[in-house]
Amino acid sequence: MIQEALPGAAELQAGTGATVYDTAALKQLDTAHHLHPFTDHALLRQRGGARVMVRGDGIYLWDSDGRKIIDGMSGLWCVNVGYGRTGIADAVYAQMQALPFYNSFFNTTNVPAVLLAEQLAQLAPPKFGHVFFTSSGSEANDTVVRMVRRYWDLMEQPQRQVIISRRNAYHGSTMAAASLGGMAGMHAQGGLPIPGIVHIGQPSYAEAGQGMSEAEFGIKAAGWLEEQILELGAGQVAAFIGEPVQGAGGVIIPPPTYWPEIQRICDKYGILLVSDEVICGFGRLGRWFGCELMGFQPDLIAFAKGVTSGYVPLGGVLVSARVAEVLVERGGDFNHGFTYSGHPVACAAALENIRILREEKLVEKVAAETGPHLKAAFAGLALHPLVGQAETCALVAALDLVRVKRGSVHANERFAAKDAVGMICRGHMFDNGVIMRAVGDRMIVAPPLVITRQQIDEMAERIWACLDLTLNDLKARGLVG
Ligand SMILES: *Cc1c(COP(=O)(O)O)cnc(C)c1O
Repeated sequence: MIQEALPGAAELQAGTGATVYDTAALKQLDTAHHLHPFTDHALLRQRGGARVMVRGDGIYLWDSDGRKIIDGMSGLWCVNVGYGRTGIADAVYAQMQALPFYNSFFNTTNVPAVLLAEQLAQLAPPKFGHVFFTSSGSEANDTVVRMVRRYWDLMEQPQRQVIISRRNAYHGSTMAAASLGGMAGMHAQGGLPIPGIVHIGQPSYAEAGQGMSEAEFGIKAAGWLEEQILELGAGQVAAFIGEPVQGAGGVIIPPPTYWPEIQRICDKYGILLVSDEVICGFGRLGRWFGCELMGFQPDLIAFAKGVTSGYVPLGGVLVSARVAEVLVERGGDFNHGFTYSGHPVACAAALENIRILREEKLVEKVAAETGPHLKAAFAGLALHPLVGQAETCALVAALDLVRVKRGSVHANERFAAKDAVGMICRGHMFDNGVIMRAVGDRMIVAPPLVITRQQIDEMAERIWACLDLTLNDLKARGLVG
């Protein structure tokens, strides 16, 4: 059974060159042995197991039954240069042959780590000259917590311990990163958050902006930070962390007034400002880093995902002069690091990924061409009777599914949470060749940055057709009139 299920034992289909997989056997083995992240396994088994992905090219994926799917989510917000890049595979192979691993502890380094650190210092906003490498976004944010507290110790203000974050933020899944995150479902498991982390409201105009203009709401939502600082006492507060645009929380795009006001408040109280760019970095928002679009200058930047387009795990923290000078000049040992910090193979993948982003001008293309085109396509989808509103920011976009549409985000009538309409819609999308993510009843895309205007149209047409299927399904279930 195992032999038959493995691709090595697969036959080649005559003529097509496509590999044939024993999907049923793979699903059965997966169900028997594989615990998936963020998954209800009883429900997964009931649904017949997980879909098996076997191949990718550009914005498309193929599953083990040969079905072609548009990947509207770039894997998990990460495959920025698209699938099938042999250049990254070649760079990884060459580095594995030369030096597959050596550590960066104990006064040693390696060539790809050196070159990547220099490359990142060039690409990052001014004042960022240093980088600390990790293997994931979660590890990057754990590093942020330790680095921020170390900084204030060295500044002889050790009482500055508290890090302020936001409800419904996502910063990862390790103990510290999940604590920084504001996901109630995560905090409910495993005794989180850890001490010294507090959360304020998120800048969601739909959730809390009724009766205000968006600009007024942005100032108000940033004001929650100042209220929290005053409640704690400014001398206790170490840092504020946020995603420029919240990703996993449902593509929450703050009003343009929000981040500059956050910056003003952090400056006023001398608090470190941390931008979690794990999704927004490396071109997603049409800039190398999302803070550049949102108009703020952080002291630390956490990154991962798009730095390698997910081909090999890599993350890290970019460190500005304010923090680096203290850590380097007076810090002594920073007792923190990972076996795979500065992994040569991961850094080689990142170097080639960044070379592709630059050569193909993908970041510029998002800003000038595909971002605006996605905005127009989603404005079209907002006309669908099931869609209350569409929002986009460069190459992230979201649609709100509503029961009754009344022409304004605060007047629309929503579905009951228990009806899980977003998941029903996601099912129709998945079954009909387009991957969208559902966060509640908000349907999200973040396609690879290589997507063309024509492919955006193809994706939007397919989404419209699946919205029709969803609407009919909801009518049959009696959930809409
Ligand atoms: C995905 C994500 C993380 C966590 O990264 P992992 O590589 O999954 O640990 C952190 N922050 C943001 C904003 C993310 O989207």
